[in-house]
Amino acid sequence: MRFIHSYECTLCGAVYPADSSFFTCPACGEKGILEIRYDYERMKSIVNADYFRASKEFSMWRYLPLMSIRGTDIGETLRVGWTPLYRTQRLGQTLQIDRLFVKDEGCNPTASLKDRASAVACLHAREMGRPILACASTGNAASSLAGNAARLGLKSVIFVPKRAPLGKLTQMMLFGATVISVDGDYKDAFRLSREAIAKYGWYNRNAAINPHLVEGKKTVALEIAEQLGFHAPDWVAVSVGDGCTVAGVYKGFYDFWKLGLIEKIPKILGVQSSGCAPFVEAAAERRGLREAAENTIADSISVGIPRNPVKALRAVTASKGAWIAVSDADILEAMRLLGRTEGIFGEPAGVAAVAGVQAARIAGWIKKEETVVAVMTGNGLKDPANGQKAAGSPVVMKPDLATFVHWMDQHDKEVCL
Ligand SMILES: *Cc1c(COP(=O)(O)O)cnc(C)c1O
Ligand SMILES: [Zn+2]
Repeated sequence: MRFIHSYECTLCGAVYPADSSFFTCPACGEKGILEIRYDYERMKSIVNADYFRASKEFSMWRYLPLMSIRGTDIGETLRVGWTPLYRTQRLGQTLQIDRLFVKDEGCNPTASLKDRASAVACLHAREMGRPILACASTGNAASSLAGNAARLGLKSVIFVPKRAPLGKLTQMMLFGATVISVDGDYKDAFRLSREAIAKYGWYNRNAAINPHLVEGKKTVALEIAEQLGFHAPDWVAVSVGDGCTVAGVYKGFYDFWKLGLIEKIPKILGVQSSGCAPFVEAAAERRGLREAAENTIADSISVGIPRNPVKALRAVTASKGAWIAVSDADILEAMRLLGRTEGIFGEPAGVAAVAGVQAARIAGWIKKEETVVAVMTGNGLKDPANGQKAAGSPVVMKPDLATFVHWMDQHDKEVCL
């Protein structure tokens, strides 16, 4: 859009002009992921606190002037963004954090944060006259691409690993996508998508490769800052798979900081599952990333070869944050806890951020008096099987009052307290 200054390669540092249309660095190839740089001095003349005070656009398009697409058709998309930022009560007490917030991204139209990237992809594809979009996905990028594309009359072709959970698969089928369930894991799905996209020339919605999508994802951070009254929290916890979400969160806070709208950039807590933690292991051993097994119930972050390592590592390092791994058991426990204390049902990868906050609080990295935001990235109904593991089963009983009274005599303490 009007404030792009240039595109910069995160690998070789080459700078390309604002009207460039390639997605990755021509010199480096696919690993040369581009960062979009803005002219903040010019942006400041429009984007300031008064602008937001006057805005009646309660969706991610509120932040269109900070984004890279033209956005002519924003009135036609599903309503993405401006999700609630809940100040927790009982959860904060349990974790001993005075000001703990949960950003509920499950409230997006296809029920995950991925809608922020898919909405951008669909508008951008339309602006470029490209009616077919494709991606590889653990599930949410796909279901959100399918839904957002359907709304705009675009087609989507999707490659998912066989393990993709039922809710997500059902969504993409219902939205009319062409869904290829790849007999393999996410790495295999990604490889096939790359080859197919190259062969057929579809619009590439793989978020690591397409730099415009991080610009969509960053709106979650802009919202958090604005919902806190243009203050940055001390910590923001985000679950990490490919690393695009955490990169987007950093970019959002960076933009607002450059514009003078917040006083600092929060420390970012990058959370992975110990069953697939290539970033955490690389950070702990101070080395580059190595391929990891994909072995966790948190399917959305079960990413053995992260596709956006440079931006993700930089987000955590530059923010003076930290990396942490949590077990699947910790995640299931956090799902139960978040549901019971706040009435929020998250999928495992979404609640991993809460489990990460809990672990970092116990480790003493997060202090009681700090302001903390956990980004809950996806709704629990997407993955009913794991939801059930966390929730347990109901009491089964004949429709007979005497039986119920007998049961109550033994259980009244749990029911009534
Ligand atoms: C995609 C996703 C993530 C992680 O995002 P990356 O960009 O892959 O790091 C986390 N949680 C949910 C629910 C997701 O769908
Ligand atoms: Zn390069």
